[in-house]
Amino acid sequence: MNDIEQEIRSTWIPAFESNPSEDKEKFYINVAFPYPSGAMHVGHGRTYIVPDIVARFWRMRGKQVLFPMAFHVTGAPVLGIAKRIAKKDEKTMQLYGGLYRVPQQTLDSFTDPIVIVNYFADEYERVMKQLGLSIDWRRRFTTIIPQYSKFIEWQYTHIYGQGKVQKGEYPVRYCPACDQPVGDHDLLEGDSAEVKHFVFVKYQFDEFFIPTATLRPETIFGVTNLWANPEVTYLKADVDGEKWIISAEAAEKLRMQKHTVTELGTIPGTDLIDKAAQHPLTGAPVPILPASFVDPDMGSGLVMSVPAHAPFDYIALRDLQQQGKYQTISPITLVTVPDYGKVPAQEIVEKNRIPNQDDPRMDELTQELYNAEFSKGKLNENCGSHAGKSVRQAREDVTNEFVDTRGSIIFHEMSEKRVICRCGNRVYVKILDDQWFLNYADPEWKAEVHEQMPKIELVPPEVRAEFERTVDWLKVWPCTRRVGLGTRVPWDPKWLFEPLSDSTVYMSYYTIAHKITKIPAENLTPAVFDYIFLGKGNGSGLPVDAATLAELRSEFLYWYPYDYRFSAKDLISNHLTFQLFHHRAIFPDELQPKGMVVFGMGLLNGMKMSSSKGNVFLLEDAANEFGADTVRMFLVGSAEPWQDFDWRNELVLSVKRQIERMWQMVLDASSATGTAAIDAWLLSRLQHRVEAATKALAAFQTRQALQEAYNGIVSDLAWYRRRLPEGSSGTAALTEVMSVWIRLMAPVIPYTAEKMWQETGHEGLVSFAAWPVSDPAKVNESVEVSEELLQRTIEDIQSILKLVQIEAKKVTLFTAPAWKHAVFSIVASAEDKRNVVKTVMADADLRAKGKDATDAAVQTVKLIHSLPPELVSSIAAGVDETAIFTAAKAFLEKESGLAVEIIAADTTTHPKGKMALPFKPAIVVE
Ligand SMILES: [Zn+2]
Repeated sequence: MNDIEQEIRSTWIPAFESNPSEDKEKFYINVAFPYPSGAMHVGHGRTYIVPDIVARFWRMRGKQVLFPMAFHVTGAPVLGIAKRIAKKDEKTMQLYGGLYRVPQQTLDSFTDPIVIVNYFADEYERVMKQLGLSIDWRRRFTTIIPQYSKFIEWQYTHIYGQGKVQKGEYPVRYCPACDQPVGDHDLLEGDSAEVKHFVFVKYQFDEFFIPTATLRPETIFGVTNLWANPEVTYLKADVDGEKWIISAEAAEKLRMQKHTVTELGTIPGTDLIDKAAQHPLTGAPVPILPASFVDPDMGSGLVMSVPAHAPFDYIALRDLQQQGKYQTISPITLVTVPDYGKVPAQEIVEKNRIPNQDDPRMDELTQELYNAEFSKGKLNENCGSHAGKSVRQAREDVTNEFVDTRGSIIFHEMSEKRVICRCGNRVYVKILDDQWFLNYADPEWKAEVHEQMPKIELVPPEVRAEFERTVDWLKVWPCTRRVGLGTRVPWDPKWLFEPLSDSTVYMSYYTIAHKITKIPAENLTPAVFDYIFLGKGNGSGLPVDAATLAELRSEFLYWYPYDYRFSAKDLISNHLTFQLFHHRAIFPDELQPKGMVVFGMGLLNGMKMSSSKGNVFLLEDAANEFGADTVRMFLVGSAEPWQDFDWRNELVLSVKRQIERMWQMVLDASSATGTAAIDAWLLSRLQHRVEAATKALAAFQTRQALQEAYNGIVSDLAWYRRRLPEGSSGTAALTEVMSVWIRLMAPVIPYTAEKMWQETGHEGLVSFAAWPVSDPAKVNESVEVSEELLQRTIEDIQSILKLVQIEAKKVTLFTAPAWKHAVFSIVASAEDKRNVVKTVMADADLRAKGKDATDAAVQTVKLIHSLPPELVSSIAAGVDETAIFTAAKAFLEKESGLAVEIIAADTTTHPKGKMALPFKPAIVVE
C-alpha cells in the first residue's frame, strides 16, 4: 500500500500546481497556516483535510482550484523552546525527543530556533503530503524570508499611514520573565482570561490610605466595614507620593502599571483588625474586620465590604455574627432590583442554603446577582445625588468622580490567576507606553468592518454573532515585540511585528509567492507591491521589470479575493477578525474576503487534545497505522466540520473496514454481466445519491455527504443484490454505479479512489475526473415506489415473525381497496390534517361507507405522518399494489421462507382484510 501511495503521490504533486486558467473559473481556498514548533496531531488533521476535500470536490466540478500552504514562524515561542533545549530542560527534551521523536543528533541542533522551525515545517509538509492534501507546494514560504518581510513592511506602511498604528499607554498582558507582551499564542494556560479594570477606593487610616479594589465603585454607599486578612503581612509603602497600606503582591503589580512604589515598612494584618478607617465620602468610621477569603494576590489585598449586595461580604459577616461578634453591623442597601427582596445578597445566600464562605457555588451566585443588578438595578435613597440612577450610569459617574476628584487610580488585573506564559512563568498586566498598538478601537475602522460583514458568507451561520461581537469588542492591540523572529517595524526598527499582526493579509501573498522569491528582496519597494496588489501606476520606473510585474498583477487578480478561509473557531476572537480589519484597510471593495468556514475542536477519547499534557495522537502515527484514507474518512465522517469530533481508535478501525469493503465491492463488480429488472431501481437511486452528496459537499457538510456517498450507496447495493435473480451476483449496471461511486468518494479517500479508478480501466487521475451529475432520465419514481413497498412489507413480515411463536407456513397479504386509496389521496392533499375526516366524509361515496370511512381516514392520517413527503405524493398518484406483490411473489417467498398469497381486501371476508391501508397491506401469518 505504501509503495502505491508513494507512486500516486508523485503523480499528484505536479498535478496540483495551479496556474491561472483562461477557460476555468477559479476557486481559491486557504487555511490558517500552522506554527511549526512541534509535530502535528490528529486534532490538527481535520483543519487541513476538510479544505482538501472541498478543493478536490470543486476541482472535479471543473474549477481551477488553488490550495496553498505556508508556515508561520514569527515570534518568540520558538526562542523559548531553543533556550530550554540548550538548558536540557527535562520536560522539553521529553516532548521533543519522546513524543515528537526528533532524532538525538537533530535535537542537539535545536539550540538554533531557525533549525527548529525548518525541521518541523519539513515535517508538516511531509505529513501533509502523506495525507494526500492537494496543495500547490511551489507556493510554500515561511514568514521570515526577506520577500515576505518586504510584503509586511508594505502592509504596515499603509496601515501606519492611515493612523491605525499608534504609540500609546495601554495595559497589556505581560510576562516579566520574557520581558514581553504576550498574545494568545504565547500562553500555556489561561487564554480565556481578560484584563479587568478595578477602581481603587481609598480609606484614610491614620497618616495612611487603605486602597480597596472594586469593579463596583457605586457600592461605596453600602460599605459597612473593610476586610483584612489577619494572616497576611501588609506593606507600608509610598505610592506616587502618598502613604498606602497594600499587600506585597499589589506593590509589585503597581510597579508594572507605571506607579512609583517605595517600601516604608510592614504591618501585620492583625494590627489592622478592629481598628477603623474613614469613609471617603462621609468621614464616618469604617471598622476593619478579619476575613480569610481576602487574597493578597487580588487587588490591593484589602477589600471593602458591602454585605447587602455582595454574597461573599454577607456570608463573612454572618459567620462572624454567629460567633457573637460585631452585632451592631447591619447591611446597608443601595440598589433595588426587580425579583429580589430588600437585601439581595442575604436573599440569594439563604435561598441557596449556603453553609459558609468556602461553598463552591459562591462565585456563581455572586455573578448572578452582579448581572441582575447591573442590567436592572437602580440606586436607592441611600446614594445621595446618585439616587434613582441605573447601576450602569452610577458606576460610570462614581468612577469618574473618584478618579477625577478623589485621586483614585484604575488598577488592572487578570480575571484569572493561572495565566501562564509558554516559558512557564505567570503573566501579569503591565502598562506600556513605548509600545506600538493597532487601533482596532477606531470607530470608523470598526464601522467599515461591520459594513463588510453581511457580504461575507459564514459557515456555520451561527458564528456570525460572535464575529460581530468581536468587531465591537476589539480594542487596541499591542502589535510589536522586542525579541523574536519576524519583520522589523520600518519606522521604528527596534521593534518587530508580533505573530498575530504579521499574518492578516498573507492570503494575497500566496497568489504570487512562487514567483516573488525570484526577485531580490531589496527591489521589493512599497511601490512594487502597490502596483501588484492595488494597481497603482503603470508598472514602469520600478526596480522590477514591467513584464514580471504585469504577470504578478494578473496572477493576483485571477485568484483574489479568496473564496473561503478555513480555521478553528478559537481564532474568531483574534486572527479571523483581525484579517477582516486589515483587508478592509488595504484592499478595495471587490477584493474583500468572500467566505469563512469555522471548525469545532478535536477530542481524544473524550478529552481535549493538548501536546503539553501529552494527550495527543500524532497525525503521522495515525496515517501509518490506519492509512491516510481511513484517517481522512474518519475525521470528516464522524461529525460535521463545525462540530467537535472525538478520536477513538476502535471507531477509526471500523472506518478502515468500510473502505476495504468498498474496495472488495468494486473488484467483485468488475466481473458482473447481463441485466436484471432491478437495474432500473439501482440507477434511479444512484441519481438521488449523487444529487444529495453534491449538495452536501457544496455546503461543506462532509458527514452528510458521506452518509449519502458511502452508507447510502452501500445500503442500495445490498437491496439490489437481494433483488437479483437466482444465481446472479451482479449485472452490467454495476459498471456505471462503480464509476460514479469511485468519483463520489474520491475527495474523501483519494488514494483508494485512484487505485480503484485505474483497476476499473479508467485513464488519467480520478482527482481530475468529472464529478458525477445526476441524470433525470434515469430517475424512475414508480420503480422506486414499488421497491419501497416491498422493503417495508418484508420488514413488517419479519417483525411479525419475530412476535408470533408458532411455526409459520404461510403469509397472506391483503391489499387495500380502491376507496381507501381515494381516502389516502384526499388526506395527502389536505392542507390541514386536523379537519380531514370532515373532508373525507364530504365525498358521497365515502360517506356511504360510514364508520369504515371515518376509521380509514384517521388511520391514514397517522400513516401519512410516518412516511417521507415525496413518498406520500407518489402513493397518492396511484400504486397498483396487487400487481407489485404478484410480480415479486417468488422474491417474497424466498425472503420470508414462507408461501405467500396476495388477496385484494375487498374480495375477502377475512376480518384482517379490513386493516389494509395503502402501502400498508394487512399481513396474516399462519
Ligand atoms: Zn514568558
